[in-house]
Formats: sequence, C-alpha cells, structure tokens
Amino acid sequence: TQMITVIGGGLAGCECAWQAAQRGVKVRLFEMKPSVYTPAHHLPGLSELVCSNSLRGDSLENAVGLLKEELRRLGSLFMEGAEATKVPAGGALAVDRQLFSDYVTRRIEEHPLIEVVREEVPRIPDDGIVVIASGPLTSGALAEEIGRLSGEYLYFYDAIAPIVTAESLNYDKVFRASRYGKGDGDDYLNCPMDEESYRAFVAEILAAEKVEPKSFEKVVHFEGCMPIEEMASRGLDTLRFGPMKPVGLVDPRVGVEAHAVIQLRQENREGTMYNLVGFQTKLTWPEQRRIFRMIPGLEQAEFVRLGSMHRNTFINAPQLLLPTCQLKSDPRIFFAGQITGVEGYVESASSGFVAGVNAARLAKGDALTVPPPETAIGALAVHITNAAAAHFQPMNVNYGLFPELGVRIKKKEKRGRLAQRALEALEGWRQLLDEQ
Ligand code: FAD
Repeated sequence: TQMITVIGGGLAGCECAWQAAQRGVKVRLFEMKPSVYTPAHHLPGLSELVCSNSLRGDSLENAVGLLKEELRRLGSLFMEGAEATKVPAGGALAVDRQLFSDYVTRRIEEHPLIEVVREEVPRIPDDGIVVIASGPLTSGALAEEIGRLSGEYLYFYDAIAPIVTAESLNYDKVFRASRYGKGDGDDYLNCPMDEESYRAFVAEILAAEKVEPKSFEKVVHFEGCMPIEEMASRGLDTLRFGPMKPVGLVDPRVGVEAHAVIQLRQENREGTMYNLVGFQTKLTWPEQRRIFRMIPGLEQAEFVRLGSMHRNTFINAPQLLLPTCQLKSDPRIFFAGQITGVEGYVESASSGFVAGVNAARLAKGDALTVPPPETAIGALAVHITNAAAAHFQPMNVNYGLFPELGVRIKKKEKRGRLAQRALEALEGWRQLLDEQ
C-alpha cells in the first residue's frame, strides 16, 4: 500500500489524514506552522478556526446542521473535536478555538499511522498520492504552482470580526439573551441601540477610513461574509436587517426589542472573550477601536483581535476536479477544503473526508466512491464539480443543492423530508465504506 502525502494541517487536511489513516493507510501530513503563518492563522496547532468560532446551526432544518450530523455518523474527527470542546451558542454549535485545535492536534499526533511534518511544501511532489489541502491562504510558492497546474486562479475577499475581553464590557448596558430564547435562552450578550445611536453609528462607519485593496485587485466579496461597511453602504437599514437585527431579542429590563442590536458570542470555554457576531470589517484598526466603542456596553472595550481582510483563493473545480476530489488531468493528485470552492469550516472538513476516503482507496487499489447526491456531503461534492465553470463561486452547503423530492410540500416539511432521505442514503454509503 502506498503512503499518502497531505499538504496542509487545517480543517480539511486533518480530516483527510485521519480518514485515510483510519482505513489503514500511512499518511505524512505537512503543516508549515509554526515556522510560517498565513495572515489569518495565529495558533501553532493544527485545525485552526481562523475567524468565527461557530460551526453554524445544529438543527436538521439547516443543511449545515445535516452536514454535521452526517459527519458525526461517519466518524469525523472534526465533529468529534467539536463535540468535545463546544461552548454555549443558542441553536448553533460553537467551540473553544484553542481547545478545538489542541484536541485535533493531539488525536492526529497520537495516530500510529500519521506522521506530522512541520514544514512548508513549496511544490507539488512529482510522484505518489498527494492531497492538496493548503486552504484559501496557501503559501506563495505552492500557490504559484497550483496556478500553473490549474490555469488562472480564482479569488474573493473574506473578512474577520473583532474579539473583545469579557471583563472590559459594561454589564449595566448589555443583556443576556439568544434569539427567540433558543439554546439556554441566554447564550449571547446583546448590545441594544436606539434609533438615534444607530443612525450615528452607521454614519461613522460610512465615513471611516478603510484599508484599501491593492490597486490591481478587484474586490469581490463573498455574500455570506460581507464586511459591515459594505452592508452600510447599501442603505441605512441594511445592517438592521443583517448582523444588527433586533428581532427575537427582548431586553428583560425594558421588555421590548431595541431598534438595533449587536450580538456578542462567547469565544472560549472560560467565557473570558467574546466576538462581535457578523462584524467582519476592513476598517483601519484605529477606526475600529474608535467606532466600536460607540456600541452600548463596549465603551471601554479591550480588543484582543481586530477585524481584517484577506484574499481567499480557490480553483475552478468544475473544470478541474472529479467528484472524488481527484484532479482530472492527474488523478494521483487530490484537492480538499476551501481551495476546491466549498465555503465554510464544516464544508471544508466534509471535503477533506471525501478526499481522505478516496485517497486511501486509491492507495489500496480499491474502487473510488462518491457519496450519494441525496446526502449533504454528496450534494456539495457533486455541486462543486458540476456547477457552471464560467461563473464558479464558492458555495456553502444549502438545501437548494439537493435533488428535488418530486412532490410539492411546504418548505419546513420539505427540509425534514430531505434530511430524512439524506440520512437513509448516508446509511447505505456508510455500510459500503465499512465493508472494504
Ligand atoms: P485551512 O484551515 O486554512 O488549512 C490550511 C492549512 O495549510 C493551514 O494550516 C496552513 O498553515 C497550511 N499551509 C498553507 N500552505 C502550506 C504549504 N505550502 N505547506 C504546508 N502547509 C501549508 N468559514 C466559516 O465557516 N466561518 C468563518 O467565520 C470563516 N471565516 C474565514 C475568514 C477568513 C479570513 C478566511 C480566509 C476564511 C474563512 N472561512 C470561514 C472559510 C473557511 O472555512 C476556512 O478558511 C477554513 O479554514 C478552510 O479550511 P481548509 O482546511 O481548506 O484550510
């Protein structure tokens, strides 16, 4: 049996290495940290969440909740780590970033078939089975080589939200609640704003100094990760319908909803840090400190991380990849994670799962496999390789990617049926994976 080389110890690379090793194949996993860091990575460990610590909704009503459930059932290391390190977050599954990375790192390092090599890989190895899971911020030399291999690189911009310390908040102003009382009902801290303060806040954001992109780069934002200043420029109420949405958040001291609300989500298990939910931004750092301290409760806020913007690269998967994650032109090379054009933490891990299973199958001489398209993991894998190549854009998992049920039913009921069908199809695929 051949050994597999995995490049990148992020969300996809770790899941991939784990799945291959669990199937009895030796893996050498290369990670360039801690000697080289991308502009968004800060922890020395593997499997680092670079921005939000939330893995998004956990109910089957969301396709991402279904994707997580499928990964749980398939024995994903990503989900094992998330369950072991979760923090309260209403209806979402959020984790302690440091503990999550520590957990996955320990499991990977302790696996007898995985060797972790802390080195930057400057080029794609000439032979052997290789999985490229180097992420949206792939280091320079390797990115150039992937560019040569794949033709033009595609890209968009992603932004990060700030984090504040819990002890610097003014608890006379913020109140505890989660939207519509989900989760334990009080998982978030909320900063209520009246109409006048909201108007002043939006005006300051619009007038603030921003970090300008390099002149030769046309900025394309991913809709799901839009910077707040971009939203503010679309209209006075855009933020109020987005991250500052007040509905379902009643301040118990006054008994009514505010005009707008900024939510703070617990960042770590100890509850010593909170992030500003949906507040990714490219305002300059002095402007962020000044303007975000206008938020009620954040007047004295101490920022442990400020928001920033990063170029995020991906390949044209519909043109280049098979749904098994293999490169059409050289099937010993696999791609996994965000670089394939899946968008999001869970989606990246899911892609790592498919690549890991198939790289192991190739190493052992077994037939390769594609997850059923009725499953979330399969719908995503099929979508990124079947989408229109000319307008290919990164994609979060969503129920629109699933094959139709063929019956007309209400949206809510439909999701339940799609989820049920997915989990049944998954069971068949899980058995097939277990057989060999
Ligand atoms: P990564 O997790 O980035 O892993 C790649 C690894 O490869 C890194 O550890 C890196 O150090 C290493 N590496 C790179 N080049 C080399 C090399 N040449 N040799 C060796 N190692 C190398 N998704 C969400 O769901 N929620 C968010 O809030 C969110 N915010 C994001 C913010 C930013 C700024 C960016 C860029 C992305 C964000 N994403 C978010 C999208 C995506 O989910 C993450 O980027 C995710 O980490 C992708 O997983 P991955 O495994 O593909 O890459």
